[in-house]
Amino acid sequence: MRLREAWLRSRKRLQRAAIPDTGTESQVLLRHTLGIDRAAYHASPDYELSDEDAQAFQRMVERRIEGEPLSYITGHREFYGLDFVVTPDVLVPRHETEFLVEAVLEYARNRGCHALTIADIGTGSGCIAVALASHLPNATVYATDVSREALRVADENVRRHRLEERIHLRHGCLFQVLDGPVDVLASNPPYLSTEEATDLPTDVQHEPSVALDGGSDGMDVLRRLIAGARQYLNPRGLLAFEIDPRRLDAVESLVGRIFPDDEVGVVRDHAELDRVVTVRIGPPSA
Ligand code: SAM
Ligand code: GLN
Repeated sequence: MRLREAWLRSRKRLQRAAIPDTGTESQVLLRHTLGIDRAAYHASPDYELSDEDAQAFQRMVERRIEGEPLSYITGHREFYGLDFVVTPDVLVPRHETEFLVEAVLEYARNRGCHALTIADIGTGSGCIAVALASHLPNATVYATDVSREALRVADENVRRHRLEERIHLRHGCLFQVLDGPVDVLASNPPYLSTEEATDLPTDVQHEPSVALDGGSDGMDVLRRLIAGARQYLNPRGLLAFEIDPRRLDAVESLVGRIFPDDEVGVVRDHAELDRVVTVRIGPPSA
């Protein structure tokens, strides 16, 4: 079977299974099978697949039809222009989370070339920590997670991007494994309610529940993050975290109670949904 025909056939099969973006997914799986980049792919529509490659490709299409996320099949995902290894031990990095990275980078730009210390709480694949350390050459990042399996994936990503000297991975709950206060606390915590986390699209069901389930109202980890943050932040520091847009009111009232005198902001994502909350801590009191 030729490349073009393999693409068309699998695209049809993915369409019948109601997978979104079938043209791209079919191409990504084919390129992954053959180990070729986009340019080579487009240059060879008549390339004849070996029987072995054709079978391997079919197996991947089957897995996708059964609802496995594309990134678990290929083992990779792009985030903030960087390539990340992902496995079923970590959440697949989401485009929305790039808005959290952007909020921290904007804060860092305003502070000048300061040697910032940053903590990424619940680092998963390490995507936030790696994106921040890549763009902030003077920053030191502590990346924590309760999942040892996730930290192994984060470690691989830190090494791939050669950031092991500036990203320190720590196993533990929230900030408990930090040595002291930092300038930035960034987090994409689990924020779905237990009920929401059991009623998800098939591909999200493949993701670790510790990455998604935020307890009965989805706020368990967030509540502890917000309540403890001040103690772990330096004066003029930044707390920035991702939220479920449906819970903005609950989050804002919690933040308002704990940070009554600090500057609170909300960032919208590409879908115009309230996605990131920021709290800028004031200067040291006189
Ligand atoms: N930062 C990654 C991202 O944005 O793609 C992963 C985010 S995922 C939504 C949440 C992560 O927080 C998971 O890796 C999970 O293991 C971790 N986690 C859950 N509860 C935690 C806690 N109490 N302390 C630290 N990490 C936690
Ligand atoms: N954005 C995820 C979803 O697909 C939830 C991630 C999280 O809980 N932080 O619903």
